[in-house]
Amino acid sequence: GADLRAALAEVRRDGDAADRVVVDQVLVMHTGYDQAMVRMFTAVDAGDTALVLKIDSGDVDPKFDEMSNRVQDAAQARQATAARAVAELRRVESYVFIATVAGFAVGLCLLTALGMVVAGFQRDLVRQSRLNEHQAMHDGLTGLPNRTLLHDRIDRALRTSQRTGSSLAVMLFDLDRFKEVNDTLGHHHGDELLRQVADRIRGVLRDSDTVARLGGDEFAILLPVVDPDAAHEFAARILGVVQDSFHIGGFRVDVEASVGVVIAPIHGDTIEDLMRHADVAMYAAKEGKTGIGIYDPAAHSRSPLRLLLLGDLRRALEQPDELRLHYQPKIDLRAGQLCGVEALLRWHHPTRGLVGPAEFIPIAEETSLINRLTTRVLSMAIGQMRAWLDQGLSVPVAVNLSPRCLLDTRLPRHIRDLIEQNDVPAHLLRLEVTEGAIMADTTLAVAILTELHELGVRLSIDDYGTGYSSMSYLKQLPVDELKIDRSFVMDMTLDDNNAMLVRGAIELGHSLGLSVVAEGVELAGHVDALRDLGCDVAQGYHYAHPMPSEQLTVWLQQHLAATAGDPTAPPGSRETTPTIR
Ligand code: C2E
Ligand code: CA
Ligand code: CA
Repeated sequence: GADLRAALAEVRRDGDAADRVVVDQVLVMHTGYDQAMVRMFTAVDAGDTALVLKIDSGDVDPKFDEMSNRVQDAAQARQATAARAVAELRRVESYVFIATVAGFAVGLCLLTALGMVVAGFQRDLVRQSRLNEHQAMHDGLTGLPNRTLLHDRIDRALRTSQRTGSSLAVMLFDLDRFKEVNDTLGHHHGDELLRQVADRIRGVLRDSDTVARLGGDEFAILLPVVDPDAAHEFAARILGVVQDSFHIGGFRVDVEASVGVVIAPIHGDTIEDLMRHADVAMYAAKEGKTGIGIYDPAAHSRSPLRLLLLGDLRRALEQPDELRLHYQPKIDLRAGQLCGVEALLRWHHPTRGLVGPAEFIPIAEETSLINRLTTRVLSMAIGQMRAWLDQGLSVPVAVNLSPRCLLDTRLPRHIRDLIEQNDVPAHLLRLEVTEGAIMADTTLAVAILTELHELGVRLSIDDYGTGYSSMSYLKQLPVDELKIDRSFVMDMTLDDNNAMLVRGAIELGHSLGLSVVAEGVELAGHVDALRDLGCDVAQGYHYAHPMPSEQLTVWLQQHLAATAGDPTAPPGSRETTPTIR
């Protein structure tokens, strides 16, 4: 009984409300059982066996069973709850397990995906940097190595040649009529031609050779090991594949090319020398129309500057600001007004500094480079005209045309395009041509000048007095201005012959209805003498030297601002009000 009560006390302490109900019930039952026991043992003491048996089976045993059943029921109920809890726990556990596995799997997937993204990114970076490296070393149009990579390879070949005593060749290669293709068929087809040229050259090279595109229509070939005697033959093969017709956009295109060849170490052992000498050799080939020029140090020493300048000039044309225009005012002697400016080319050479036109125009005039040069001058001059118009200044600009330009039938169309693109009045543009230019091919020159005149462009005869003079052609030409060469004007006050020539030129010009300009007006004495002779316009250092456009703009504004000043006198003296028409 004591054990039972201790156990029930424990249940009461640790159990829940239902357990405590069971404890109370069992305690009540146990009290009944205790009493039955007392009665039974009393009967035992009395020796009443029959009563003992009766109490035992009728009272003690049933009460015990009752208690035992109650406890058992409670225990079973508890066990069932526990079993349920365990089952629930198991279920949760299995969920947790599944969730853990699934979570792990997802995590693994994410990690893998992340890994793949990172790897992909890295691959892209590597690919991009390889691409950048490739682009830095190759020409975008043809995919050929560019100048940088070529120099790198020449450098390597030079070192090998020094070690082994072998020779290497560098060939500079230039298409003679590429610009024509570009102009007539368009850039798209020009690009296609360059690609086809690249393919053909690649086709005749060995794997160890390099063909590079240096820009424009200029290619270079490096043969890192070569038999000097075989170089000419190889150059001929290159020319051969290029001279076969190309088929571009349904057109048959024939181009010519010139190759300049240098062999190291005979013709030089530095990249600079080799490239320069290859340039010289190529120009010699172009000029001699031989197709192939092997560098000839003797010929080079005869006219080194000339050929070097040609190469440099070709490169200058690809630079934005090596070539600039200066402008020199032309003054109307009667009205005392500025009546225009002449555009004169200046070359800011990267190493030689300022090179004057007298030094490079004659050289350019011997090759077709003069056409590209003129195109550049025209676009700069017409662009400047536009800029002045935008500032409210309507300034007529004269541009010099070389004799070769009057053999170029595309010139009028080109000028018309420039005028239209810049939206400038055609009459503001004046073109100066020399008599010699017209004599070269009179029929063609007259046709081109007539076409230009019909556009509304003004025309002048330049350097009058220095070349042929023929009244008959002067009459047929649609020119309206005659410019007397400065050599006669400068000496007119000293030399009677020159004074007579100036007088004669003014009279001739007037008899043909032309306005007459005196160039090289350096002194006030010239101005007086020219006025007396009825000369119309003067140009020279007396008024102003040729100057950059910004400076001329200031010069113009000073003349406009002066309320009483004679622009026919040097800036500073004041007599009449200048205006700019
Ligand atoms: P040009 O057409 O006879 O140009 C006039 C030249 O005389 C200019 O020389 C000018 O600076 C110079 N000059 C002007 N006033 C005086 C003066 O009072 N005294 C002296 N002694 N000289 C004076 P520049 O600029 O050196 O040009 C020389 C020649 O180069 C030009 O002679 C022209 O034939 C040619 N040239 C210049 N620019 C071009 C161009 O864009 N295209 C072509 N084709 N030729 C050009
Ligand atoms: Ca001129
Ligand atoms: Ca002149």
